[in-house]
Order: sequence, then C-alpha cells, then structure tokens
Amino acid sequence: MSDPAGHVVILGAGHAGGTAAALLRQYGHAGPITLVGEEPIPPYQRPPLSKAWLKGEADADSLALKPLEFYAEHHIDFRPSTRATSINRGARSVALSDGSTVSYDALILATGARAIALPIPGAKLDGVMFLRTAADAEVLKATVGPGKTLAVVGGGYIGLEVAASGRALGADVVVLEREDRLLARVACEALSTFFKAYHEQHGVVFELGAEVEAFEGEAGHVTGVKLAGGRIIPCDAAVVGVGAHPNDELARDCGLDVARGVVVDLEARTSDPSIFAIGDVAHRPMPIYGRMFRMESVPNALEGAKQAASAIAGKSAPAGEVPWQWSDQYDLKLQIAGYAFDVDEILVRGDPATAKFAVFHLKGDLVQAVEAINSPPEFMMGKQLILSRRPVSKARLADPTVSMKEVAA
Ligand code: FAD
Repeated sequence: MSDPAGHVVILGAGHAGGTAAALLRQYGHAGPITLVGEEPIPPYQRPPLSKAWLKGEADADSLALKPLEFYAEHHIDFRPSTRATSINRGARSVALSDGSTVSYDALILATGARAIALPIPGAKLDGVMFLRTAADAEVLKATVGPGKTLAVVGGGYIGLEVAASGRALGADVVVLEREDRLLARVACEALSTFFKAYHEQHGVVFELGAEVEAFEGEAGHVTGVKLAGGRIIPCDAAVVGVGAHPNDELARDCGLDVARGVVVDLEARTSDPSIFAIGDVAHRPMPIYGRMFRMESVPNALEGAKQAASAIAGKSAPAGEVPWQWSDQYDLKLQIAGYAFDVDEILVRGDPATAKFAVFHLKGDLVQAVEAINSPPEFMMGKQLILSRRPVSKARLADPTVSMKEVAA
C-alpha cells in the first residue's frame, strides 16, 4: 500500500496489533481498520502479569493499552473473542472463527507467540499452568499464597519473575531448571550467579540440572513434579515457563516465507507485499548485527508496529533501533540492551555484591550488549554505544569512578 482509504486488517489484538491500530490513525490513515483478537479483552500489556499485577500492585484496567472506547472513537472495528482461521492471498481475505470473511488491502499479522507445553505425563492436571494471558494470570494469582508451594519449571526471566512474585505473595517457591545455571539461554554466567544468590536470599529454592519427567497428581490436581531419577518435588501448583513458540501457522498455511517466525524486511513486510508481520511472530532484520532474528519484547512489538504503520500510511521507515528489554524482580531492575553476538570479552562494571552493576559484552572494543542491574546510566549510554558502533576504552569502562558520559565521549 500506501492507499489512505484502504482497509487494513490486523490479526492479533495484543501489544503489537493494538499499537499498530492506534499508530495507523495517528499517522493519518483514513480507511477502515479491523482489529481481530481471540482474547475477550482489548489489547493489554503482558509484562505486569508476572510482576506488579501478579503481586496485586496493579488493577486489571491498568493493563489495557487503551480503554475499550478508544477503538470505537477512532473508528477501529475491534472484534474480540474472534480467531482468524485462514488467509486467502488470492482473494485478499481472511476467514474468521465466527464464520465471516473480511477483505483487506493490507494485512498485519500480529499473532504473537504461545507458551511451550511440556509433552510429559500429568501436563494437563489442574494446577499446572502457563503465564501468557491475563486469564492465565488470574488463575495463578488465585492459587498462590501463604502455605502453598509453587513449583516453577524453567529458570528464565518469566520463571524468575513468577518466583519473586510468588515469594511476595507468601508462597514457598522452588525453581526447577534443566541447565546447570539460570538464564542459560539469555544471560552470561555472572548474571546467572547473581540472580541465583539474590533469589536464595529471598527464600527461593533451586534445583539445577533438574530434568522434569512428569507431573504427579491426586484427584486430577497436581501434587508434585517428578524429576528424572524418580525424586518428587511436592507442590500445590506448577508454572511452566520454558519458552514460547511463534503463532506463525496462518502465515505458513498461506505460503509466506517462515523461518523462526514470519520473515519480514525493514518495513515489516513479508514475502507478500500486502502482508506485514510484527511483534513476537516476526523474524526480522537487525542491521546493527547484520542478522535476522525473532525477539519477544515490548520494545520489539512497538518497533514492528511503527514499521508496518509507517509503510501503510506512506511515512518513511523509523530510524534504526537497538533492541532492548527489562525484567523486574524484588527491588532489582534489570535493563538489557542489544544481543551478545560474536562476543570475545565480558566486562563487569561495579560490584555485584551491591546489587548495582552492569555487564558489558564486547567484540574487540565495540559494545555488543549490556545487562544493567539498577544502573540506568550504564543501560542508556551502553545502548548509545551499541548504536553508534563507537569504540570504547575498556579500562575506563571497567572503572566505575569514570562516569558513563566520559566513557562514551
Ligand atoms: P501478544 O501480546 O502475545 O499478542 C498476540 C495476540 O494475538 C494474542 O492476544 C493472541 O491471543 C492473538 N492471536 C493469536 N493467534 C490469533 C488468531 N489466529 N486470531 C486472532 N488472534 C490471535 N517483554 C518485555 O520487554 N519486558 C518484560 O518485562 C516482559 N515481561 C513479560 C511477562 C510475561 C508474563 C509475558 C507473557 C511476556 C512478557 N514480555 C516482556 C514479552 C512481551 O509481552 C511480548 O513480547 C509482547 O506482548 C509481544 O506482543 P505481540 O503483540 O507480538 O504478542
């Protein structure tokens, strides 16, 4: 496109889809917009589900990206509780679960990702949960509390956030991780060690190298997690947080290029010029690393929404970005910028014992990524250094008495 009167159909009313709908209007798109979402509520933020909201520190309304009225006021035809079932590229139409068909001039796939289930006995028992949707979070919140034991399968960011929230709600928490360290897929060893010790200080118990073989139950409800070797960890509930799989079946079935997610270009355009893909479902280029990859973060969902809305509304593409994300656990704010590709050195700035430090991942004297704990200047300046590709002095970077401004100068 850009056809200012064209009909834009967005499949998936999550963070990316909801943002794209709002941005299209903001960028002046005057044609009809249809936003199709299988969940019963308007687009909302997922990060609080494992943090403030789970702990009871935020109400349901505060999750919404926009109030429900926003969509009607902006002539966005929001269709909740409706699933897109297939795409007919020849006819430029989408079949929906209510039996209707909707035609498009431009189509945006924003179907996100779903939690990966464990194909093991007992996985369907009551009390074995995931945390992906507001509905999942309601169930979890009603289950966790004083006197209960929560088993968390998977020591990634979501698992650790659930563990911290579980402790805040007064539950006993045990985290079961298959690898021999936490955050093995996403963070360096220094960070894994730090988080493990911090959680232990808050009473979380860890089982590392723990291969979960089955969930045990009584009367249809989970009572424990069985590890390889036969040991059983008793629990009242279990949350499985072992990663997410992109909802890319609609794209595959209609013949779009799909790799680890739907393949798009810098305008979020798929192999069909009238179809875009954004957010967790997209496998997108990241020019600063000369690579394609799929990301699961709010900033990535916002960036994809900007790219697709700009292309459809005839605006120039947004300037390149550094991918980033965050995680909140207890009083820790972790901010991560970039990805640790092709790294040959890891440098720690500050003292982990103070819970205020940053880990820089370097390729030669270029910063590839930074993980900053309670250290906003390290995060912000690190992000700038990743984008500018300016070399740094490692000695100055490692010295916390030299300010980050001076390091970056
Ligand atoms: P989603 O927000 O998942 O939305 C996709 C929507 O599409 C869903 O509503 C889904 O039901 C719908 N859908 C799927 N298939 C269809 C279909 N066929 N028809 C109609 N609708 C369909 N990111 C951070 O940056 N920081 C954090 O701290 C953080 N914490 C998180 C905590 C939790 C518990 C979770 C689950 C995620 C967290 N994330 C965090 C990740 C972030 O929320 C996601 O990256 C972001 O929501 C992706 O947006 P999206 O629109 O691509 O997908």
